Amino acid sequence: MKNSKKDIRALSKKELQDFFVSHGDKSFRGSQVYDWLWNKATYNFEDMTNLSKETRQMLMDNFVINNIEVDQMQRSKDGTIKNAVKLHDGFTVESVLIPTMSRTTACVSSQVGCSLDCKFCATAKLKRLRNLNADEIFDQVVAIDKESKLYNGIPLSNIVYMGMGEPLMNYNNVLKSIEKITSPEGLGMSPRRITLSTSGVPKMIKKLADDEVKFHLAVSLHSAIDEIRTQIMPFNAKFPLADLRESLVYWYEKTGKSVTYEYIVWNGINDREEDIRALVEFCKAIPCKVNIIEYNPIDDGQFQQGTDVAVAKYMNALEANHITVTLRHSRGKDIDAACGQLANKMKV
Ligand code: SAH
Repeated sequence: MKNSKKDIRALSKKELQDFFVSHGDKSFRGSQVYDWLWNKATYNFEDMTNLSKETRQMLMDNFVINNIEVDQMQRSKDGTIKNAVKLHDGFTVESVLIPTMSRTTACVSSQVGCSLDCKFCATAKLKRLRNLNADEIFDQVVAIDKESKLYNGIPLSNIVYMGMGEPLMNYNNVLKSIEKITSPEGLGMSPRRITLSTSGVPKMIKKLADDEVKFHLAVSLHSAIDEIRTQIMPFNAKFPLADLRESLVYWYEKTGKSVTYEYIVWNGINDREEDIRALVEFCKAIPCKVNIIEYNPIDDGQFQQGTDVAVAKYMNALEANHITVTLRHSRGKDIDAACGQLANKMKV
């Protein structure tokens, strides 16, 4: 056990204020500390310069700040940056900075490993070791923002929860991290610049709707036929497409927001006419966009990127049905930073 002191970032603003009051100080000190932690992203009590020396010492005696550390940074030929991020208890996760002409996007992890077992994803091979805390997700964003300013001269503009892990299996911490990132007392980013990508956990999609979240939702669909989806994403047996569809209808009715489906086309798996028809039908449930993403091989050779012809057939069918479709090319492949490639490779 490295330290038995409590992590100060586990406390809410109210708890911080109460802590000061119970120590004979003003509640307003709690607000000052909160500002250092979540607005200025300070990792050191010594840096909280508007507190007296005694107050800083008192905080040090009672608390720690379990910040992450960027252990290793790799830069791709295309400008993509991958961070191997060390957590306070020694685990490692990865986050990615993806610069394009119009935006810089941070792709952050929400779990060490993953609770799901998608057959085509490298992270799934790691199993889930633990959930990340809100501050550990927040810190990934802060680290990438700094790197973006340093290397590209511009701050971060977008965040995608598409790194390691299934964000909806770590619901409370993920939502808490988004609250810290978006609130004016935190980093003050617009929730409209955040996308949460899920493999599709119906109960949790409904909860997002009930919680009236303001960020975007993306669902990794990959097949609209249960039999096939269960083969490649085995948890689909527990959460079949009918349930997923129902939860998305609920999402749209409650939030009025559309959804993006992420979809990879593979040879011999989902490249038949009936696969295309099933997707078009599924897309009719609520307003949506389809993002066809390039497959990034993960070594075992079981999956192969579908042909250009198959991808074009998908695109034509979707467009013919007035469904917006985009094609996403992978970034950062040379450093294993692309979708589905995050597996702490440089550590093993
Ligand atoms: N668990 C969440 C977020 C992490 S995966 C989810 O499933 O959405 C982020 C995206 O990468 C998902 O759309 C996922 O389907 C995709 N992905 C996984 N493995 C991939 C691979 N080998 N090549 C391309 N994309 C992959």
